[in-house]
Formats: sequence, C-alpha cells, structure tokens
Amino acid sequence: MNTRSIEIPVKGMDCHECVLHVEKAIRSVDGVSSVQVFLGSEKAVLQADPGRLDMQQLVAAVAAAGYQLGDPSGAADEVPSSATRRSPTSILSFTLFVFGAVLFIIVAGEWLGLFRSASQVIPWYVGAAFVVLAGFPIFKNVIRAALRGQVLSHTLMTLGVVAALAIGEWTTAAIVVFFMRIGQYSERFTAEKSRQALKNLAALAPQTARVEQGNDEVQLPAAQVRPGDVVVVRPGEVIPVDGRVLSGEAAVDQSSINGESMPCEAVAGTPVYAASLVHAGSLRIQATATGKDTTFAGILRLVEEAEANRGEVQRIADRFSAYYLPVVTAVALLTFLLRRDPLATAAVLVVACSCSFALATPIAILATVGAAAKHGIYIKGGKYVELLAKADVVLVDKTGTITTGQPRISDVITLDGFSWDEALRLAAAAEHFSEHPLAKAVYQAAVEAGLHPPAPTNFRWLGGQGVSAEVDHHQVVVGSRLALGDPPLAPQAAGLESLGKTLLYVSVDQRLCAVLAAVDSLRPEMPHAVQELQRLGIRRVELLTGDNQAAAAAVAGELNIPYQARLLPEDKIRIVKQYQAQGHTVVMVGDGINDAPALAQADVGIAMGPGGTGVANEAAHVVLLRTDWALIPQAVHMAQRTMQVVKGNIAFTAVYNLLGLSLAALGFLPPVFAAAAQSLPDLGILANSSRLIRQ
Ligand code: ADP
Ligand code: MG
Repeated sequence: MNTRSIEIPVKGMDCHECVLHVEKAIRSVDGVSSVQVFLGSEKAVLQADPGRLDMQQLVAAVAAAGYQLGDPSGAADEVPSSATRRSPTSILSFTLFVFGAVLFIIVAGEWLGLFRSASQVIPWYVGAAFVVLAGFPIFKNVIRAALRGQVLSHTLMTLGVVAALAIGEWTTAAIVVFFMRIGQYSERFTAEKSRQALKNLAALAPQTARVEQGNDEVQLPAAQVRPGDVVVVRPGEVIPVDGRVLSGEAAVDQSSINGESMPCEAVAGTPVYAASLVHAGSLRIQATATGKDTTFAGILRLVEEAEANRGEVQRIADRFSAYYLPVVTAVALLTFLLRRDPLATAAVLVVACSCSFALATPIAILATVGAAAKHGIYIKGGKYVELLAKADVVLVDKTGTITTGQPRISDVITLDGFSWDEALRLAAAAEHFSEHPLAKAVYQAAVEAGLHPPAPTNFRWLGGQGVSAEVDHHQVVVGSRLALGDPPLAPQAAGLESLGKTLLYVSVDQRLCAVLAAVDSLRPEMPHAVQELQRLGIRRVELLTGDNQAAAAAVAGELNIPYQARLLPEDKIRIVKQYQAQGHTVVMVGDGINDAPALAQADVGIAMGPGGTGVANEAAHVVLLRTDWALIPQAVHMAQRTMQVVKGNIAFTAVYNLLGLSLAALGFLPPVFAAAAQSLPDLGILANSSRLIRQ
C-alpha cells in the first residue's frame, strides 16, 4: 500500500483523554493506517494513503469529536506566537472564580462551625445561575461525549452535580462545579506550560539566513536554504544550518545542541550545528543539512515525540483511568442501593476523579526528555527513561568508549624481512576507508612518518575485528589476532601485549609482515563516572572488548571492574542476552559500527557522542551529543528521579482516591468537601511533575 506520513496541527486538546479521542476519530477515517497524537506539541502524525484520504472527511471526523485540525502544510514553519490569548470570557471567568471561592469559604466555615447558616443568606437562584454559567463548558463536553457514547471523568462529576441539584443542595452543586473548573484550568495550565517549554526551545533556531549568491548576500527564510549553499554568520548571530566552516574564525557556543557550556573554536573545516551561537568572529559556512534535517530539528522532534514511545508505567496510568470510572460508578450505585443516601452518592461521584496523574505521567516524561536534551543527552522516547531508571547492569565497550578514542601507534615490529616504511604504508592504505579509531591511528602514524598511503580497492570490513583491502595488487589484512586466524604471538609482541597495548596484526598476501602496537588512554572522567553509577545502584559495570586480554586487564584494573576480552560483535550480543535472561535490565555503552547490534539488543543502548559512527547512533536508544562520561550517571539519575515522581504520583492517587471513595460512600465526606478533596491533589501532582523541567 502507498502510505505517506502527514503531520497536522490539532487544536483544543487539554487533557489526556482528548488525545485518545482524537486518535480514535482520525483512525476511523478511510485511508489512515496509523496515527499518533501529541498533546505537548499539539499535533497528529498519521500514516495514510494520500490517494484514499479525504481531508474534508478527516477534518469533519475530528470536529465531530470536538477538536479542530489545522492546515497540514503550515505546521512546520509556524512561528510560535508569544501573545497569550485573552478572551472576553476571562472577565466572566474571573467573576465566577471569586464567587465560587467566597461560596466555598462560607460553606467550609459553616461546616467547621465558624459561622452559622450563612449560606442561607444567598438566594438559591444565584447558586443556580453559577452552576449554569460556570458549568456550561463542562456540561457541553460531557453531553457531546455522551452522544458519541464516551464517558469522560467529568461525566461522573456532572452526574454528581445533577444529583445534588435534585435533592435541592444547590450550594453543593455550585462548589462541585467550582472545583471542576479549577481542575480543568490546572490541567490546561500545565499542558500549556510544557508546550511553552517546547516553543522556547524551538525559538532558538533562527528564522532567516544570509546566503551568498554570486557576489551578493541575500536574506532567505532558513527553511529555503539548500545543502551546498554558503551561509554567512556574523558575531552575535545564531547559525541557521548544519555545515562545515569554509573560512573565518569564531568562538561558537553549542550549548543548545550538546549542553557544552564552553564555547568551542571554529576554523575552516570545523563542523557546526544549527542553533549554535557565534560569539566573536564571523564564519562562512557551507550547509550540509538545513530546515527539518538539522541536528537541532531532530532534537526538537525527539522531545515533541517523546510521548510516543510509551513505557510500562505510562500504560498502567492509562489503564488505571480506564478501569477507574466503572469502579466508581459501581460504588456509587451500591451506595445508593444499600444506604439510600443521595448525598453520599453524590459525594462518591464527585470525589471520583482525581486522575490527573494520567496527564502528569506524560508531562513528567516530556519534561525529562527536554531537560536531558538541554544537557546533550538525546533520549529517543519515554520508554527509555523508564528502563534507564530500572537498569542494574552497565556493559561498556573499550576502544573509543571508555578510552579517549584517539589512540597512537607506539611501536611497529616488522617480520619476515618487511621494511618498517613498507609495512606501515600498506597497513595505512588498507585502513584508509575505516572509521575505527585504531584505523585513524594507523593512518596518522603513516602520514607523520612522511609516507603517502595509496587508496585501496576491494575494501572489506572483517566483522568488527579488522579490515582487508587490495593495495598495489597485494591482499593486505589489518586486524586483531583473531581476524588473522589466530597466528602464534610473535615473541617481541608478547612484551608489548603484557604492557596492556592493543596489537594490530598486518598481513600481506597471507604472510604476517608486522605487528603494530597502539596505546590509548582512559578518559579522565571515567573513574568518577563508574563510582557514580555504582552509587546510583548499578550493581555491575563490566568491560566488554574485542581487544586482547592484557589490554583489557590493564584498563579494567584501573577502574576496578570485571572484564571479558577477545570478543566478537556476536559475543557482545550473547552477553547482553545472558544478563537479560537473568532478569537484569541492561545498559550497553558503545561507539562503533561493531557495537551497533549489541546496542540495539540492550534494554538501553547508549551511543557515545557525535564522534561515533552513524550506525551506532541509529541503533542506540540514547545518544550523547558530547563525549563526556559524566552524562551517563546523570542520565540514570534524571531517569530515576522521574520515575520516583511518576510512581509517587500514582501511589498517592491510588491511596487518596480509595480513602476518599470510602469516606464518601460511608457518608463521612459531604459532597462539598469531596469536590475540594478531588481537585487539591491534582494541583500538587501537576506541579510535582512539571518541576522536572528544571533538572
Ligand atoms: P572494543 O571492543 O574495545 O571497542 P573493537 O571491537 O572496536 O574494540 O575492536 C576490537 C579489536 O578488533 C581491536 O582491538 C583491533 O584489534 C581489531 N580491530 C577492529 N577494527 C579494526 C581496524 N579498523 N583496524 C585494525 N584492527 C581493528
Ligand atoms: Mg569500540
């Protein structure tokens, strides 16, 4: 089937249930194969067959559910408006709010015995008018939903209001309506706040770019710049594209991309990213990615869509609210049938709906993904926040991950009559196309020795253990001892290996011709990061490497962690699976192509930084935009805090609701207080969750 991804803005959603309703409405339209609706970014992303999809029908379906669809094309370039809408109804709302608050104080005071029969002073029609005016927007939604066969959390409360009115308790009805509105506002406010955080982030990207055209510079909308165009950026301006510096020199602040607070020096050849700030100096930049393809646009999308990859806890929250309504209805019915107490029945209905944690959970996750992105930690979905918090085993790769990734060739041992120059030249030529840190070291060593390695042909990659290629009509292989069929260890090499150096064997036409030794140092922040992980409850940090025993032992010894050496990429996957089978939640940290399968297999695969290979970044669930090991314990810590907040919210809600429900059913909680009792914790829960934005 021919499907296309379409993004459409959705207006009018302010609760978690709304998302489910809009999704259902869109899914019912012909030609739509799947849809995801995002509350935070107010949009729907659907997979649909453009030939069969009728936009009119789509708009009508969503409108029937009570929401509005925007224009699909305008979605991306929409400039966030900073003006807050102040509708003419806000004066009415304010008046109603004051009236409701006064009414509540009077009734509460009466109940506590502070004043006597004060509420009787207020004529009944004032209260009735309040119920109608203040309750109208809610009743309208409830009735509309009921006509479509949907039950909202407000439905039960509306029944409670009706019950109160039926027995002449108009003050009670008015106060219930008052708190329903307060709850609604607080949900809306929190949703708006998390949306605003996104918009603030989006506003970091410049709208226009100065592009060279011949000898002129023209100002163009940033979205119209094409890869290959040359963009000029002056001091104090923000870079509009991803690209490479052609000329100029400047200090560039990339904190919006990777959280690095120190500006970095950019000269010709330096890669730069959209949304970074040029401090001093100006740059001419050749664009490599523009508009929606920039790294920054990717981060934004990620934060927006973090809602999509729902974790277990979020699903529990959804399910809880789905089961909760029928349970409450049953309790209300029982109360009415067994106790014949209409007031208690009304109280049960009213106390029912402290379920804003259903909204609070996605907000907490969204807040954390956003906060993490600001530090340079790119989390590809809420699910991984949850898994990171649960993790108890961290497996780490060696070369390029816990070492600096800039090894140096320290020794070259030649064998079988090969000359030093010839061996190094051939090895470097074979490594020409490899991205591996060791390959770069070999090439670098050859260049420093004044050699000119030729370009190879028939380049092949030996399963993460080395490379083979044809150079000057010779078959050259460079790799670990395993890659070369495990030849006996050359005696001179044994000494180097015992020093903990990484050995690379070089063969030419199947004759072993040299052994190169590389040294690499541990990243300086590594020991502290390991300690932090252990402090956060990670029970096992283990080194997995394709390198030799001695090299692995040397590094693992410095960190005081266990290790396994001489592993092939498939061994790493097997080890990840073993830990998972034992019930552990496994984090795998790696950097290279040969780590990609293990990264994908792990519960959370973390790819080390922008220097890592694209494949590793694709396969990983978390990408660090800055090669700094301190980010890993930080990510775990943020995740743990988030889950504490989320679980706390759920536990609190469950206990609180149970208590409220029992008290109401037994007649100890008058409906007026039931109304207050149901909306107060909501405020706390929402505030508690949005606090995570500032991590
Ligand atoms: P680690 O698991 O420590 O990150 P790798 O899996 O990247 O190490 O590599 C394992 C071993 O494979 C290296 O120690 C090296 O001997 C060999 N190797 C991998 N890639 C190359 C390459 N491009 N050139 C030479 N040797 C390589
Ligand atoms: Mg590696």
